[in-house]
Amino acid sequence: MLADFAAVAQAISGTKKKSVKETLLAAYLIRLDDAELERAVVFLSGGPFPRRDERVTGIGWSTIVDAVSDAWSIDHDSIFGAAGRHGDLGDGVAELFPAEERRSMTLSQLGDYFDRLAATPGTSAKRAILAELLGGLNGQEARFVIKILQNEFRIGLQEGLVESAVARAFGRPLTDVRRANMLTADIGATALLARANALDSAVMTLFHAVGLMLAQPEEDPERIIDTLGPDAVADDKYDGIRAQIHGREQEVRIFSRTLDEITHRFPEIESAARGVAKGRSFILDGEIVAFDGRILPFATIQTRLGRRKVTPKLLMDAPVSFFAFDILYLDGGPVLEKPLHERLLLLRELIAGADDSAIRISTQSPAISASHIDELFDAARDRANEGLVIKDIGSVYTPGRRGKSWLKYKKAMATLDCVVTAAEFGHGKRRNVLSDYTFAVRREDDLVNIGKAYSGLTDVEIASLTERFLAISTGRHGPVHLVRPEVVVEIAFDRIQVSGRHKSGYALRFPRIARIRDDKTVEQISTIDEVRRIYEGQLKREGVRAVGSPSDTAPGGDVDPNEIDIVPQADS
Ligand code: AMP
Repeated sequence: MLADFAAVAQAISGTKKKSVKETLLAAYLIRLDDAELERAVVFLSGGPFPRRDERVTGIGWSTIVDAVSDAWSIDHDSIFGAAGRHGDLGDGVAELFPAEERRSMTLSQLGDYFDRLAATPGTSAKRAILAELLGGLNGQEARFVIKILQNEFRIGLQEGLVESAVARAFGRPLTDVRRANMLTADIGATALLARANALDSAVMTLFHAVGLMLAQPEEDPERIIDTLGPDAVADDKYDGIRAQIHGREQEVRIFSRTLDEITHRFPEIESAARGVAKGRSFILDGEIVAFDGRILPFATIQTRLGRRKVTPKLLMDAPVSFFAFDILYLDGGPVLEKPLHERLLLLRELIAGADDSAIRISTQSPAISASHIDELFDAARDRANEGLVIKDIGSVYTPGRRGKSWLKYKKAMATLDCVVTAAEFGHGKRRNVLSDYTFAVRREDDLVNIGKAYSGLTDVEIASLTERFLAISTGRHGPVHLVRPEVVVEIAFDRIQVSGRHKSGYALRFPRIARIRDDKTVEQISTIDEVRRIYEGQLKREGVRAVGSPSDTAPGGDVDPNEIDIVPQADS
């Protein structure tokens, strides 16, 4: 039941000791039936779905606030106030909801709600489902449901600790639990196998999408070499659609990173993969990129996704290739536990026979030093790719994990001087300081927001900015203070994109605060014209003509539903 789950989560959050957490967890898991066990370990690992399942509920902070308000007729200011006091929305809401025991729901019922949220498009429909769910919960239950929805459990549990609790609960060797979890990328399925003493049977099955391995960002080539050593492999980083191709004889299926099947959208890749699959079986990992002998801009491939029917004209206008960079399964068995250098040999051997331009191998070179990484980076940019992904040559493939074995290296292009218009309390150890900043550029006499960033400054800088922002606050909305536009920060970023998210009509990809610019006043910040110039220069480099102005473009094309800006626009 959800009430027991909440009680255990509460107890676990009350201790810092890993061994105590593990004991509490193991004692709880042993008591559950299969259906509850499967869901419980997933939720305890911090999110609504297992790793292999890339569905998202698409619920952001503001939808949760609205649903909390609908469920219990609580006004928004009280919710913001409680969230601000606790520095966490779940903890704040817990105090506003009834405390008494209610007829608790099962974890399967809770899981059904998460499934419905993921399957339902549209914020208002999601809000109604969430309000229905929250209306049935007491404070303690709501606290943890909200934390799961935010993918931030923050009770000091990570999947590794859940793995050891599973091993302990069912008396199995930890290495067996880890291995099964790696193959299935599903801690729920793994827990059931552990209980049934069937961890050996964990298999990777063809035509059953596997969670994808992810890369961590790293901007300093010296640190990349320190982390990976001088015999890493640098791959071009393609800006396309991450895809996984499963093939056996005549049967081929292509899955997206959300594990949706997308085979019918890419008939040329499907037929090339059939060629590779003759007499063999495989799972390939790679990126589908618009390509006609050279890399074409990402916008080209978007046209392919937007259309219902893949017509011959579309195939001509938006040609694509799959650039394979890894192999997870070959000729009847998984190969993801082999070190990368062996997997790459297998990949080359498999694809070499195919010689079809719709399936290629990514550009890979050994990366031997920091300066060499910079050369490779420039070469990748010359091929119109985004940057590099540099990989540990001895690493295994860990589905669904973002680890230090793959580091993505992209360079900041330029910087903009922006003024902060709103400052928000952070999370975790930054819950009591204003660490997340919304910032604007100048448009004639106006200031227009262009982004939000929360990284780059030291704790000391953040503490002193917090004092400054509190002193120039013009009003508080929950965790957000609107501030007089005085503090200038220099923002580094990867790209400028046209976007409806902010009033400027542009958004920055991967914005980071480079430094505080106390030497500049708000009159001296960057203008919207500068933004436009950088954007157009970017398009020129990529070989596309700038079409229209931001306002001609449908907003929200690249907006991540989890990242919708909830900060009130200082300029609206
Ligand atoms: P980002 O989207 O910037 O977080 O970067 C991670 C993504 O880069 C991965 O999910 C892949 O889709 C993509 N990617 C492009 N090229 C590669 C590559 N050679 N190796 C690994 N990932 C790559």
